[in-house]
Amino acid sequence: MSRHVIVTGASRGIGKAIAQLFIDAGDNVVGASRSGEAPAGCAKSIAVDVSNSGEVNAAFKSAIEEFGPIDVLVANAGITKDGLAMRMSDDQWRDVLSINLDGAFYCARAAIASMIKARSGSVIFISSISPFVGNPGQANYAASKAGVVGLARSLATEVAGRGVTVNVVAPGLIDTDMTADIGAARDAMLAMIPMGKSGQPEDIAEVVGFLASNSARYVTGQVIAVDGGMSMGL
Ligand code: NAP
Repeated sequence: MSRHVIVTGASRGIGKAIAQLFIDAGDNVVGASRSGEAPAGCAKSIAVDVSNSGEVNAAFKSAIEEFGPIDVLVANAGITKDGLAMRMSDDQWRDVLSINLDGAFYCARAAIASMIKARSGSVIFISSISPFVGNPGQANYAASKAGVVGLARSLATEVAGRGVTVNVVAPGLIDTDMTADIGAARDAMLAMIPMGKSGQPEDIAEVVGFLASNSARYVTGQVIAVDGGMSMGL
């Protein structure tokens, strides 16, 4: 049976690969992004700024009206605005927290009621290994992604008895627009990866697919790093 899947940040990179995985499985995929672009096979694409709760509520309401209760939410949309903490502006801090953390919360809140009502569903947040390994210049980003882990674990306990699972995937260094321009930091990160190479968006999508599947029905509140071993032991 085809599921109603919402993927945020579906226009590019990791979100696009995740949306494609569900499309290939025959699901009704609603792809959300700032631009409104989404892979061709999406049942619907929505332009939404996840940091705006009004826009998120309206977008999710229309998706539920069209496709029924949400079976899977992948809260993936995210940005970086790197800079040393000492010189980080208020806007640099706030923009990253607003999109990465507020946005993840707004999307989960907008999706969860329909899941609870249906007594099934799966929420998957895309965090990062950044808060676990400590990357210079990412105080805003690491704080937002650590916040997502706290959000996920608290939410997981709230909905566990209602048949809804909540998990986090924490990617390492993945080849997308986000990491295309990181210069020397790339070599420093590669040196920290036991597998010696960066990952591809599909490497993240496969794990998300598993967490959304019935095979992961007894998995909740977990953080799964997909990082070539970079954060092992942390
Ligand atoms: P990306 O290629 O830069 O794509 C970012 C996506 O997020 C785009 O679809 C973008 O939409 C969307 N987005 C950004 N701000 C938004 C907003 N306010 N409202 C709605 N959508 C918004 O990034 P990526 O590498 O695929 O990253 C995806 C997720 O994985 C992010 O949460 C990122 O933090 C996380 N992650 C990535 C890596 C990595 O190495 N790449 C590592 C760890 C974690 P538009 O195209 O419309 O702008």
